[in-house]
Amino acid sequence: MSDLAAPAEATVLDVARVRRDFPILDREVHGKPLIYLDNAATSQTPIQVIDCLDDYYRRLNANIHRGLHTLADEATAAYEGSRDKVRDFLGAADRREIVFTRGTTEAINLVANGWGRAHLRAGDEVLVSRMEHHSNIVPWQLLAEELGIVIRVIPVDERGVLDLAAYRTLFSERTKLVAVNHVSNAFGTINPVRELAEEAHRHGALILVDGAQATPHQVVDVQAIGADFYAFSGHKVYGPTGIGALYGRLELLEAMRPWQGGGEMIATVSFEAGTTYAPVPHKFEAGTPAIAEGVALGAALDWVTATGLEAIGAWEDQLLRRATLGVSRIDGLRLLGTAPDKAGVLSFVVDGAHAQDIGLLIDQLGVAIRTGHHCAQPLLAQFGVDATCRASFAAYNTLDEVDAFVAALERVIGMVR
Ligand SMILES: *Cc1c(COP(=O)(O)O)cnc(C)c1O
Repeated sequence: MSDLAAPAEATVLDVARVRRDFPILDREVHGKPLIYLDNAATSQTPIQVIDCLDDYYRRLNANIHRGLHTLADEATAAYEGSRDKVRDFLGAADRREIVFTRGTTEAINLVANGWGRAHLRAGDEVLVSRMEHHSNIVPWQLLAEELGIVIRVIPVDERGVLDLAAYRTLFSERTKLVAVNHVSNAFGTINPVRELAEEAHRHGALILVDGAQATPHQVVDVQAIGADFYAFSGHKVYGPTGIGALYGRLELLEAMRPWQGGGEMIATVSFEAGTTYAPVPHKFEAGTPAIAEGVALGAALDWVTATGLEAIGAWEDQLLRRATLGVSRIDGLRLLGTAPDKAGVLSFVVDGAHAQDIGLLIDQLGVAIRTGHHCAQPLLAQFGVDATCRASFAAYNTLDEVDAFVAALERVIGMVR
């Protein structure tokens, strides 16, 4: 079945047209056409973003914010224009609520260091779900070591769904923050972040949402969610590596301490009178940032918006359904993560076959999937495995590719068993 023959009501995405924007999809791997199903680790980059990076270095390159010359002005305008695009993309009220970071990891570390160190005391509690990416676990563990805060773990059921009843019982008067992902990168579970936020706020706690997997799949509105902090990475939403953003409510950001010190983040520096900081968000953007990548993130968000996130999400759902159906016929294959509400992530293990062997062999057939712990060891441990195979889908994947992946998987399993 070709992607063009997909039922019309299921998607308004023109996948053939989407694919033309991604030059990398034309390459071969081991003499086979590339089938790229590792989108949850990094998505491919459309020509509009590649051209934007190229154009930046050909025409605009200059350090931003302090320059008085034309290039510095134009580069600053492009970079700050991207901040407006991120604000719109996340539904934030104010551009000052958008802090550029290297990605989700750095955004969470910024909250842990800028907000956590200023506001958390020994014995304060942070609720972290068992399905978090390590980048939303380890920063809190570092604070636990340093400050004596307590991490309480929100449990996950056998489908990979957060246990909401248990969640409600975890709050105490010491609970200061809930740190959860919007969509699990390991299993694809979509979490009810709005409900989680309401509950956190009822107890006077804040909520930080890791949106690294949600932003490529669905429209995000940080105000509708009620998120206090929201983090995402450019390279998972068709943008470049090395850039992402943290959304933080303005009064929270304003009350936070700077995390890193240096140029760009100060108002005045004096040995005698001390140093005053730049207003937010610049207070949190010490040093020369990833300017080209920041500008190109704007191009990526333009691409996503023009393509239509609702159409992308609906298409990925269709790919996931077909893949789920396809692999469920394979003898001895166990799906991990069977939540009713899932994004385009298919995680599985196969009796008698190591995930790594499957990953290596299927690569020989041109199919890129990820194998390993997906930076979610606590979640995998609950399911008694230390690695899974993970296929994850993006706007440019086709139903034919899904079928080819399932066929390749069957072949590979036959080889290793
Ligand atoms: C990828 C990912 C991260 C880390 O993102 P970086 O871009 O590596 O900083 C965090 N959380 C989730 C859910 C992810 O998928």
